[in-house]
Amino acid sequence: MSPPYGTRLANKVAVITGAGSGIGLESSVLFASEGAQVVCADINEKGAAATAEKIASLFGEGRAVAIKADVSNEEDVKKMIQLAVTQFGKLNILFNNAGIMHPADDNALTTTEDIWDLTMKINVKGVWWGCKYAIEQMRKCGGGSIINTASFVALRGAATPQLAYTASKGAVLAMTRELAVVHAKENIRFNSLCPGPLRTPLLMEFLNTEEKKNRRLVHVPMGRFGEAIEQAKAALFLASDDSSYMTGTDFTVDGGLCSAY
Ligand code: NAD
Repeated sequence: MSPPYGTRLANKVAVITGAGSGIGLESSVLFASEGAQVVCADINEKGAAATAEKIASLFGEGRAVAIKADVSNEEDVKKMIQLAVTQFGKLNILFNNAGIMHPADDNALTTTEDIWDLTMKINVKGVWWGCKYAIEQMRKCGGGSIINTASFVALRGAATPQLAYTASKGAVLAMTRELAVVHAKENIRFNSLCPGPLRTPLLMEFLNTEEKKNRRLVHVPMGRFGEAIEQAKAALFLASDDSSYMTGTDFTVDGGLCSAY
């Protein structure tokens, strides 16, 4: 990334989960490039630290801090949000982005209770914990923006079965809409980001053969996987005041997938 940098998030403090890879990594760097101070959170401690170091090397010290946090653990989430306040004085933006897609064959007949519970714990409960503690801080700032990563599979039936994952992302959409309505008058905005299929470790480990990759691409009018930076740019829009009249949306960034027949 080279100068000039922007100011769309000047004086804003952001917490980003899943910051060690894919969308979270690209968003952390992009948000910092637009002036934000960023808490980079990930269950993968090394990944979070590497992202914070990258921000420091690009934009200088004091712009990012890393924390090991499992979003499905309430105490970890509490500490992660508190770190934004102790380190940078406030919280304006939360990007609840961390998520898992279990690589096992996951249809109604083959999925297990363990897979189901783990997926819900991270993808759904993790978003709830994040919102719960962020709302408390955002009230003190007179508002804020929360972006929850869902998926196109919550909007359309996925041809490659991933039942627990799909159900979890549907819950993210429903939860986000309700939060948006309940907290609208407090100027706390909530939007879901619904990515299409991306060339990140999460999906590439799942679509582990050329046949599976090609089958998924049949449904994408643009005929290619999306890149994490393309989601980060959408998340930046939702995080910034550029989207000041948007709340409760399912914001799709999917190469046209959801519009295709
Ligand atoms: P990724 O695998 O590149 O990154 C996910 C990150 O989340 C990793 O760094 C991982 O360590 C972290 N993580 C996993 N469990 C965690 C936990 N319990 N606590 C904290 N961090 C945890 O994947 P990605 O594609 O960047 O995925 C980001 C989000 O986008 C996920 O919510 C995913 O479901 C969603 N999504 C991805 C795609 C896709 O095609 N890749 C499509 C739609 C939605």
